[in-house]
Amino acid sequence: MIPFEYRTPKSLKEVHEELKQFGTDAKLIAGGTALIIMMKQRLVRPACLISLRALRGLNNITAKDGGLRIGGLVTHRQVETSSLLRRRVPLLAETYRHVATIRVRNMATVAGGLAHADPNQDPPPTLIALGAALKAVSANGNREIPLEEFFKDYYETVLRPDEIITEVSVPRLPPNSAGAFLKFLPRTADDYATVSAAVVVTLDRTKKNFADVRIALGSVGTTPVRAREAEAVLRGQPVKPEGLREAAERAKQAVDPISDFRGSAAYKKEMAGVFVRRALEKALGSLPRKAKTPARRRK
Ligand SMILES: Cc1cc2nc3c(=O)[nH]c(=O)nc-3n(C[C@H](O)[C@H](O)[C@H](O)COP(=O)(O)OP(=O)(O)OC[C@H]3O[C@@H](n4cnc5c(N)ncnc54)[C@H](O)[C@@H]3O)c2cc1C
Repeated sequence: MIPFEYRTPKSLKEVHEELKQFGTDAKLIAGGTALIIMMKQRLVRPACLISLRALRGLNNITAKDGGLRIGGLVTHRQVETSSLLRRRVPLLAETYRHVATIRVRNMATVAGGLAHADPNQDPPPTLIALGAALKAVSANGNREIPLEEFFKDYYETVLRPDEIITEVSVPRLPPNSAGAFLKFLPRTADDYATVSAAVVVTLDRTKKNFADVRIALGSVGTTPVRAREAEAVLRGQPVKPEGLREAAERAKQAVDPISDFRGSAAYKKEMAGVFVRRALEKALGSLPRKAKTPARRRK
């Protein structure tokens, strides 16, 4: 490991001062689970690490406008176990439970995970399907960035070097909504996904038609992918197995995976369709029974 300075500011103002002093030679560090590995591999060589761990007020989960506000320093384990969060957005708790091991989840923070921007991570598709946004704070002010617009490329986001992610907000879902996250893990339980799919469905008042659908996938491109054409096939349509199959086909067309040791590109594309259909079935199956849910079809 190459030598570096280590700073422990106590406030956001002090973080901004350190960032100003070191510029792009500095790196923020939160849980350290991603950054330390990248430093050991010499993929990044910061002259200074600015630890966020002494900052106050960024490690709480609170109710906000019927939805949730999750502080940037909240750990994955907190998201997984918070009773407020499990009650309001069980889909999110379920998604974070799938990340790595408890040891990693105890250290890894929500903001650190998002800034890391590995397209194989689990939380981004779910946060996109939920319509979440993050708050980025610099010395010059704040901006809110929808998660959907946050990821630019492999390990690249729209975040500027002087910006700190301080919170993620998750809006309240409309009535008759449910979600599902599925992670296809053919190797070991703590691996990254071969393919992951997150969906949020909202039915209309009759509970027979889709009022809205949001679908996002992970591990199938250089960033998480929102499958808008698959959503459009279902929106306003009756809940029918044919519709789910058509949406799954469109989802396959939206992805562009690479071949690696988790599977060939063609296999991952196929699995993207399968897991979108299964996630839709799972979400529909968790809504009250009055809604007509299509029979489950095995591929
Ligand atoms: C063994 C292992 C297995 C894993 N398996 C999975 C998995 O199955 N699924 C999955 O989704 N993920 C997995 N991960 C990735 C894990 O989710 C990330 O390592 C973690 O989320 C990073 O969070 P952190 O707080 O440790 O970030 P850090 O390592 O502290 O930082 C990561 C990046 O974010 C920046 N950063 C940190 N905080 C902020 C902030 N507040 N504002 C702006 N930038 C910030 C840092 O400068 C750095 O560039 C795995 C990691 C490991 C080590």
